[in-house]
Amino acid sequence: MNTQIDKKQCLNDLIKFLSIEGITGEEKNIANAVEEDLVNSGIPREYIKYDNSNKKIPLPTQVGNLIVKLPGTIKSERIMFSCHLDTVPLCKGAVPIIKENKIIPKGNTALGGDNRTGVASLVSMLKTLYKNNIPHSPITVLFTVREESGLWGARKVEVKDLDKPVRCYNIDGGSTNEIVIGAVGCDRWEIEIFGKAEHAGLAPEKGISSSMIASLALADIQKNGWFGKIVKGEKSGTSNVGIFGGKNGGSSGQSPNTVTDYTYIKGESRSYDQNFVSEITDAFEQSFTKICDTFTNADGEKPNLKFSRHTDYYSFNLNFNEKVINNAKSKLSTLGLEPKLVKISGGFDANWLVKKDIPTITFGAGHNMCHTVGEYVEIDDYFNACNLSLLLAQDG
Ligand SMILES: [Zn+2]
Repeated sequence: MNTQIDKKQCLNDLIKFLSIEGITGEEKNIANAVEEDLVNSGIPREYIKYDNSNKKIPLPTQVGNLIVKLPGTIKSERIMFSCHLDTVPLCKGAVPIIKENKIIPKGNTALGGDNRTGVASLVSMLKTLYKNNIPHSPITVLFTVREESGLWGARKVEVKDLDKPVRCYNIDGGSTNEIVIGAVGCDRWEIEIFGKAEHAGLAPEKGISSSMIASLALADIQKNGWFGKIVKGEKSGTSNVGIFGGKNGGSSGQSPNTVTDYTYIKGESRSYDQNFVSEITDAFEQSFTKICDTFTNADGEKPNLKFSRHTDYYSFNLNFNEKVINNAKSKLSTLGLEPKLVKISGGFDANWLVKKDIPTITFGAGHNMCHTVGEYVEIDDYFNACNLSLLLAQDG
């Protein structure tokens, strides 16, 4: 079994991909660079395709997911690898420089190690397989778009375009030995309260204050233990009110002498238990409904409430005896690394891939403090991810 990657080549690939701008929704240049790199290293162009997910994503997106499908050279089930191509907007204009055993951004930007470390490690893996003629399973590599702005590429990818992989290794994170086997699910919800404006000095009793109603409802939620960190018996989760204001990003109300007639609130609920995610959202809906039903002005008029909710991504908890976990554990041991199974309280492409019945674990390739100007890549962790991918490609 080949366990040796060409470190110099891997590092060059990473620096090259970190230097290509490609913030979320603008993945064309980085996708084309990956495609060219693969073709130049001998991978037939017909193995490389774009899907049409960008046509289905409700936000402007330059290209679809880039999907590479290699036939196997050994008889085995098809396995998949995935990573996202996009970076957060704070990476715009990033210039990577190597400083000792790290890569850091030269200027006042984030680096984009999230997730170019994933991209570079998978490109290196594919190139190494080809260059060294290493026997491998049938492999699909999915490079997703718009992960950072809502997991869109993974959400919209069609399983039929992936050729039925039986398991997937998603690369996105810091330490390579931390295997993510579960993650929370998340609801996002929006609340609109339509009150009634009146002169606050002349006839406040005839007004219906949307901001007061929102405050009462949120106080009710807080009092009943549904805000922030939530624990109800065995169940736990979190909730947040992220936006509280008026129309189009303005304030709720415009002047001190007018009763506010409109309030907009946007927030979220999370839990490892998908049913509990819904229960948290229910609690918000019920409190707002209750307050709106009981609040009246002097004329007996009531406010109107519009509560809309959707599941942003689903929670998952892989079974401990899933092959995808055991394979990763055993290859990590081969590399002398101690596997650690973890769950995370955020969503990433794996949430959608598991939802599509592809058991998926995630491991890191060395990016740290992502989404900040302090972002850096730990080069040794990146090499570990390159090596781990190469091992998994051979019989993962
Ligand atoms: Zn990421």
